[in-house]
Amino acid sequence: MSPPVRVLYLAGSGRSGSTLVTNVLGQYDGVLAAGELRYLWQRGEVDNRPCGCGQPFRDCPLWREVRREVPVERAGAIAAGLRGRLRMRGVPALLRRVRAGRRPVDPHPDDAVLTDLYAAVARHADARVVVDSSKLPPYGALLGALPGIDLRVLHVVRDPRATAFSWRRRRGLDGVADQRLMSRPPVWKAALLWSVWNAVTARIWAGDGERYLRVRYEDLTADPAGTLARIAAFAGIEPGAGPFADPATVRLAPTHSVAGNPSRHRTGLVPIRVDDQWRQGLSRWSYAVVTALTVPGLRRFGYPVRRAAQSTEVGSRGVPVGAPAGDEEG
Ligand SMILES: [Zn+2]
Repeated sequence: MSPPVRVLYLAGSGRSGSTLVTNVLGQYDGVLAAGELRYLWQRGEVDNRPCGCGQPFRDCPLWREVRREVPVERAGAIAAGLRGRLRMRGVPALLRRVRAGRRPVDPHPDDAVLTDLYAAVARHADARVVVDSSKLPPYGALLGALPGIDLRVLHVVRDPRATAFSWRRRRGLDGVADQRLMSRPPVWKAALLWSVWNAVTARIWAGDGERYLRVRYEDLTADPAGTLARIAAFAGIEPGAGPFADPATVRLAPTHSVAGNPSRHRTGLVPIRVDDQWRQGLSRWSYAVVTALTVPGLRRFGYPVRRAAQSTEVGSRGVPVGAPAGDEEG
């Protein structure tokens, strides 16, 4: 049996910069930025949405090879099975199992397919590390229980007032108006999802120093090169030169990422800097609602409860991470 595949799993709630982190990591030698692999079956295989390289999923040279090794004819059923196993209402049971030291998600006949998928991806991409930005904690827990996968969890957290603001101005998933998959949850819902998924991520993995690293979006944008070096060391990625043109600018080549938001298609020189439009754009009422619903998480992850005085931060040139043109789903 071949050795397990090292998977760096980006976990947490959406709109936290995970798309950018995934694309940057994908520029290192021996790393494949695979995108949100939990959506491969539906958005990739069934819907044939564009790969990060621009080709339709089924025509992409990498995924064409991988598709030969997994039962793509069952993609719809596999997607439905995953949706059923990863529902929010299953989370309390999952946490009870984690607490009791048991396997967090029940075994399932499709587990072997998932193991084969990650092995095929690593082999055809010649990757020592596969970066999966699926984010959903239960899917990460499912992967972590598979014998063929060596999971490392990168928990990316961002101020929930910023993520709530970001959700409200969300664009289509693939750079075109895409009403079907666009979701603009109200701020209270964005706040609750932030609380649940970040708390669950921490609950499942935070005790495991070897397999878990937490990074805040705000620390990433304050020190992009330093933060990426820390992530690379944690994931077992050879630091090499990496894609940094300077400590806050990366040069991005296309990746083969599946699913996710339009910013995964960004290439060329991309400055990494904070997007804090929410400081001006988020209403007083929304700020209060989100804050009230996220207090335990704010404290836990080191965010202020009170609103700071009007920001005087002035951005440098370029597009900030999280601005509409490059808005980060994760
Ligand atoms: Zn591709």
